[in-house]
Amino acid sequence: VGVDVQKVEIETVLGSGFSGLNILGLNSETTRDLRERVRSALESIGISIPARRVVVNITPSEKIKLSRTPLAQLDFAVAAAIIYGLHEEKEGKQIPLYKPEKEYFAGELSLAGEIKKLSNTLIYQSILHQSHHSLTTLCLPADTLQDPHFVPRPETQFFVHLKDWYQQRKKSSENQRVTKTSIYFDSEKDSQSLRDMEISSQKEKILDSLNLLIKNPKLCVALLVSALGSHHILVAGEPGVGKSFALQRISNFLSPLTSRQSLEVKLIHSSSEHFTRPFRSPHHSATPAALVGGSSLKPGEVSLAHHGVLFLDELAEFTRPSLESLREPLDSGEVFLSRAGGSIRYPAAFQLCATTNPCSCGYLFSRQKPCRCNPNESRKYLQKISGPLLDRFCLQVWVEPRHEENENLDLFAQHLEQEFQAGKLPNFVDHFLKEQTLLKEEDLASFKENFYKKNSFQSLFCKGLSVRGQEKIVQLAFTFQRLFPSLFEQPQFFEDLLTYRILDKMLLQRHLF
Ligand SMILES: [Zn+2]
Repeated sequence: VGVDVQKVEIETVLGSGFSGLNILGLNSETTRDLRERVRSALESIGISIPARRVVVNITPSEKIKLSRTPLAQLDFAVAAAIIYGLHEEKEGKQIPLYKPEKEYFAGELSLAGEIKKLSNTLIYQSILHQSHHSLTTLCLPADTLQDPHFVPRPETQFFVHLKDWYQQRKKSSENQRVTKTSIYFDSEKDSQSLRDMEISSQKEKILDSLNLLIKNPKLCVALLVSALGSHHILVAGEPGVGKSFALQRISNFLSPLTSRQSLEVKLIHSSSEHFTRPFRSPHHSATPAALVGGSSLKPGEVSLAHHGVLFLDELAEFTRPSLESLREPLDSGEVFLSRAGGSIRYPAAFQLCATTNPCSCGYLFSRQKPCRCNPNESRKYLQKISGPLLDRFCLQVWVEPRHEENENLDLFAQHLEQEFQAGKLPNFVDHFLKEQTLLKEEDLASFKENFYKKNSFQSLFCKGLSVRGQEKIVQLAFTFQRLFPSLFEQPQFFEDLLTYRILDKMLLQRHLF
């Protein structure tokens, strides 16, 4: 359901009366098809359903109706539940059939009892990732092993035919245990070497991007900090300054997906092929429904950008309702789409990257060209971006065109430019990659603690700022300190850091003109 795995429980009861096989919990058409396939598959292995009341109950029925998975994949479980039911009846007369404490099934049956290939193995891979400790046995079609993306674990068992499963359970009854699968890949090791390769190709990409963008070192610093700290970033400035050009390259700075993240991305995109971090750039005409998910069960742009980047070019051109619809997923990292029968959850933990002009003509505050907008228009332009949304951007960078080499640069931009001129960018990128792989949660916590102890910072720099605003500055300071450890003790560290949150000030000014 959505990208969550909904477990379905199957109960069987053999009662008195002659009403035959009754399946509860699904609509009548699905029930009829399922009953015929199961009856026929059971007969193919010599089990006939007795002429009496056999009730199979499938729950929770309201959730099943929202499922993206073909319901025929319940066949295997229903057939197994009936076999267990029939065997319990005969207990005392023969050895009871071995039944693991928890047993999960997926697979559609052919009339001859073959277990057909699954339409989507990602879901079952996801079960293994989520709950392999509590999961006793997962029974899947043997074809699943042909899927190169499926990595089995010891608790998975694979069957070609319903008969194979039945015989294995009978055999296990004799020695009271289930033979675990012998197929087991060392997936962690494989993915580690894959990740090493990805990291070295990432270094190339970062260097290429930096060489392309170094003419504007402030923009490079902003990109590096945004990528390292996963900070949402808004870049403002006049047209032609390279805002979009730079932000479109931010994916190059992001770390490769972990195997867990990669699985989530594949589930959302319903594709086994998606390996890199998503980069989504919806047009500014996108509706709230297109952004967060709408009337269909399909995920919106915020979910398609999960574990990746949502790039909004010309933020102020989006409608106010579209922009406001982003606030909830930005805070919670997920969206809930309400439907008859319940709600569907889609994860939406994305990094928001946006650009904006300062006014409709773009040249407000420009030193090159006068602004042609009337004051009323220019005020309205940026007011479309509400304060609360603006607050979500940790980095708010104002970029100016650069005229001379020796222009005043902030501490960080100056440092990066010096590294470039000394040919030390590769070392700098190595440091960046090291920081990217080594982050620990407790590092931020201890940084904060020292920070508040040591700094009269609050009184100096945060006058009049909201708690959220102050928190953002501490997070930003942490990332800047990780990226530029040698600059942390410099007196202008904080003052220059605040130039990466300039819109706070600029937007306060907008009320003045
Ligand atoms: Zn203007």
